[in-house]
Amino acid sequence: MSVVLYNCPGDLPSEVATWRGYLKAYDPAMDFRVWPETGPVEEIDYCLAWMSKPGDLKRYPNLKAIFWLGAGVDHLLKDKELPRNVPIVRLVDPGLTAGMTEYVLLHVLRYHRRTPDFEEQQRQSHWRQLEMPLAKDRRIGLMGLGVLGQDAAAKLMGLGFDVAGWSRTMRQVEGVSVFSGEAGMTPFLARTQILVCLLPLTPTTAGIINTRTLAALPKGACVINAARGGHVVDAELIAALDSGHVAHATLDVFQPEPLPVEHPFWRHPRITITPHVASQTISETASRVIIEGLKALSDGRSPANVVSLEKGY
Ligand code: NDP
Repeated sequence: MSVVLYNCPGDLPSEVATWRGYLKAYDPAMDFRVWPETGPVEEIDYCLAWMSKPGDLKRYPNLKAIFWLGAGVDHLLKDKELPRNVPIVRLVDPGLTAGMTEYVLLHVLRYHRRTPDFEEQQRQSHWRQLEMPLAKDRRIGLMGLGVLGQDAAAKLMGLGFDVAGWSRTMRQVEGVSVFSGEAGMTPFLARTQILVCLLPLTPTTAGIINTRTLAALPKGACVINAARGGHVVDAELIAALDSGHVAHATLDVFQPEPLPVEHPFWRHPRITITPHVASQTISETASRVIIEGLKALSDGRSPANVVSLEKGY
């Protein structure tokens, strides 16, 4: 019998009950505990965690793995006392991926079809037909060509867009013009009319949307950040918008969250804000992924999507 600790402070009792139901359906003998009611800490085999308290995960001396219930592990890796001797498995889940791709398509299409311009015209009761290029003539740039970037790329190409991607290492992705590393960044940005950030937040990617990178985009480009707030240097994005070099930005993530009421992003006429909802962990699909991971470990195999502590994602 395995002992699983659900360690997601702030989750609603109904969410906890749903997770309990899915996991107990897989293994009726499982002892499913909910933080902070841990029972004897040495009995805990696995932690399912999200936004766990820093320092908490080191309290379980016989832990076999941590399953992080999100794709980005930046919050977790900030924990200086994080156990480094157990696999940390991040969430790669079809439901999470589908949600992000919907978000990317929604906001790319919104810019492609000039919706902010029409919204502005509507405010002025102004009827004017604006030109719009075909999708094949709209160049989309995805920063991050991992699980989320590649799925968004495939669906964008399905609509006919001209898609490029930028990654740390060189990748072959059919139909996508791939750029990599520092050397690939400027040419990637120079051909990007709609930039979508889907990078993990690491010391290398923090503040990557800044004066220098925004200036490398063509004038009138739009920016969509669905990754982490720490990727954006807020004041430099506002300056690029105010100068007219960047036409519009859609931001789902912020530093800090919730975005403080006095933050200038809220009132900027050319910023669209969503409250970190680009994609959400859906227990129905995510629990299947976690169960696969638990099965792998109980069979002595390595689970998929173990985080590299060295790379930081
Ligand atoms: P992956 O790990 O699958 O992909 C990350 C991609 O970023 C890879 O292509 C990687 O390059 C690239 N990358 C990493 N570091 C660099 C760098 N220094 N320079 C260039 N490229 C780099 O992650 P996912 O696609 O699963 O998720 C991406 C992020 O999306 C998550 O970390 C999370 O922060 C965010 N997210 C946001 C959500 C929201 O609701 N707003 C929901 C879910 C995720 P390489 O291919 O060479 O490894």
